[in-house]
Parts: sequence; structure tokens; C-alpha cells
Amino acid sequence: MTTTQLPKTQVAIIGAGVGGCIAALALAPYYCVTLIDKEAAPINKIGESLAPAALRILTQLKLAHLLDDKRHILSHGTLSYWGSSEPTLIDNLRNPDGFGWHLDRSYFETQLRNACIDAKIHCIWPAQLTDSVATDEGWQLSLQHDNSPLQLNANTVIDASGRHCAFARQQGITRQQFDKLMSIGFTANVNIKKKTALISHTDEGWWYSAPIHNPEKSPTQAQQKRVFSWYADAKLIKNARITDPSQLLNRAKSIPGFTILSSRIEEKNAQLHPLVAANSSKLVSCSGKNWFALGDAALSFDPLSSQGMFNAMACAIQLSELIINNGLTHAENIPLYQQQVDKIWLSYLAHRALYYKMVS
Ligand SMILES: Cc1cc2nc3c(=O)[nH]c(=O)nc-3n(C[C@H](O)[C@H](O)[C@H](O)COP(=O)(O)OP(=O)(O)OC[C@H]3O[C@@H](n4cnc5c(N)ncnc54)[C@H](O)[C@@H]3O)c2cc1C
Repeated sequence: MTTTQLPKTQVAIIGAGVGGCIAALALAPYYCVTLIDKEAAPINKIGESLAPAALRILTQLKLAHLLDDKRHILSHGTLSYWGSSEPTLIDNLRNPDGFGWHLDRSYFETQLRNACIDAKIHCIWPAQLTDSVATDEGWQLSLQHDNSPLQLNANTVIDASGRHCAFARQQGITRQQFDKLMSIGFTANVNIKKKTALISHTDEGWWYSAPIHNPEKSPTQAQQKRVFSWYADAKLIKNARITDPSQLLNRAKSIPGFTILSSRIEEKNAQLHPLVAANSSKLVSCSGKNWFALGDAALSFDPLSSQGMFNAMACAIQLSELIINNGLTHAENIPLYQQQVDKIWLSYLAHRALYYKMVS
């Protein structure tokens, strides 16, 4: 099969998730950018809670209007049963950045991809990165596009491929795993009006529930769609052998704060989500000669933080500013970016330790 050679690019970004799209949009006015994703369209990812501070980044890129869509639900706060049987309201009203959002996640990623197309960024999907070789001028990337091989030469590569860190792995960079947290959950219609998110700690991990966009044409006034997730150590969650939403629902009934919600679930349309990794992990090096990693590819957070998407956006902006201010190939970019990422990681670990200490 013949390989198609693509036009050379200055920056190739692997992954058009939140982090990859934000980096592409920030860099595009200054560099020739190619954005690549293995999926033809965003898939349904778990995780919908967008931190209020994300609005600052979207505003900087003139994209704040993306959140102005009824598919994204304003988050007023979270009711937390964390280390106490009495709930605490973590109220976004007191957050200087204002409210957060419960996103229609795949729609939000579609909006970001469309913004990249509108910005005339060279977008290639579906195309999976399969190999990368260092050259005198940067990298030669091999991509698989609908069974036909493509080749792309790039001066710099940004790995925004999520937890798989596809490019960094090809360079043999080790990923440190700090725990074995996993998650399983389901989506269901619930007959309840209150749209507050809920978080609850138990002896067997913790639970989360939040409202998400309900695509049904005319849901009754009291009917909302919600996501329910159980987070626990891999061994515990695998031993539970969950194959049906009803098994999770039975567990949810006894969770502090979940009793009323559980009793209002319409079980018949409940849909089970696959088991996914939710551990904290980090690449040993997040930058090297002519490459950088950002978002989950660099650092992945415990979903308890609800900071994963914001971190991906913030990393993308920090890296873009370094590259724009210093130039693409400035040698100092590598240690400077690593320092920024290390600082974020240390602050995250300190916060995580504080939260889990409250329930140990
Ligand atoms: C169970 C769970 C719940 C979560 N809940 C929340 C939450 O409520 N709020 C929050 O902010 N965060 C949450 N997160 C974290 C959040 O989902 C991530 O932090 C976020 O997706 C990171 O964005 P990203 O752009 O770095 O990576 P991703 O969103 O993973 O995007 C990576 C992209 O790269 C593409 N890709 C991968 N490999 C290749 C390849 N070889 N070639 C080409 N393309 C490739 C993928 O198709 C994908 O589109 C949660 C995570 C989990 C696991």
C-alpha cells in the first residue's frame, strides 16, 4: 500500500480532546499546526464537570459562547458527604470564577473541533499515530487513516493523546502510577427536580452523581438524566463483577445522600458505562527535544478533583505561551515547561492528600 506524504507542519498535535484543541487554537495564529485524532468524531467520555475557571481560558480564545448552550447545564455546586454524615454544600456562588458546568461532553468536544476547523487548522481524523522517528528537523510521524498509511513531518510534536500518551510511550518515557483507582457507572433518568451534584465517601471508595443533558424531546418537568459513578480500588471494583446497572443501583441505595435519588431512578432505561482507569499518574518527563506532553498525557488526576479538563486546558495555554514568547525551538522551553508541570503536580498531590486524610 502506498504511503501518502502530508504537507510538512511546524506543530503536530496528537489528540483532539479538550487539551489538544485548546493548544491548537492558541498556537494557530503563530504557527502552522496540524491536529490529529484517531476518532472520526468525539466519543462519549466519562467526566462532565467543568471547573468555573475554564471560562477564563475560553474567554481568552474568544470561545466563551460555546458554554452558552442549553446542552451544558450550569453547576451551582456540589453536595458533599465527605468525612461526615451531614452534607456540606460546596457552593459555586462563592467561587470568584462563578458557576461551573455539567457538560454534554461529546458535544463540547465537537464544538472545540469545529472551532479548530473554523480557525483553518489542518485537522486530520480519523488518523492514529502508529510510529514516530526523530529527524534532523524534528519528527517523522506515521499515521493510519482508514487503512491507508500517511506520513507527516513536523518540527515539534505535542502529545495530547490522553492517558495512553501514545507519542511519549513510543519514546520509551515511563509513566508513574500513584494508585489503582477505577470507575464504573451508569446513566439513568431520575424523577427529581434538584440538579445538585452529589459526592459521598464510603468504606468502599466514593460515589458521584450529577445531571447531564437529556436529549429526549419532551422530558417531563421532574425528569432529568443523571450520571452515577462508583470509584474504588481496582481489586474491589473488579471483584464486584458488575455487569448490569441494577447491581450498581442496589449498592447506591445505601450510600449517604443517595437514598432518595436511588428511589427515583427509572431503572428500565439505565445504561451501564464501561469500567475505566481513574488513577493518578504522571509521565516521568513531560518534555524533550522537539516534543511536549500536555493534559492527561502528562498528568492524570483523580476525578474527585474535577480538574482534569481544566488542567488540560491550562497546560495547553501555558505551553502555547512559552512557545509563542520564546520561539518553537528555544532550548529553555523544555526545562521551563517541565518546571510548570511539576509545580501543578505537587500542588495536586498536596490537595489530594488533604482530601483523603479527611476520610482515613
Ligand atoms: C471516570 C472519569 C471521570 C472524570 N470526570 C471528570 C470531570 O468530571 N471533570 C473533569 O474536568 N475531568 C474529569 N475526568 C478527567 C478528564 O476526562 C480528563 O482529564 C480529560 O479528558 C483530559 O483531556 P485531554 O485532552 O488531555 O485527553 P483526552 O480527553 O483523553 O483526549 C485525548 C484524545 O487523543 C486521541 N488519541 C489517543 N491516542 C491517539 C493516537 N494514537 N493517535 C491519534 N489520536 C489519539 C483520543 O481519541 C482523544 O480524543 C474524568 C476522568 C475519568 C477517567
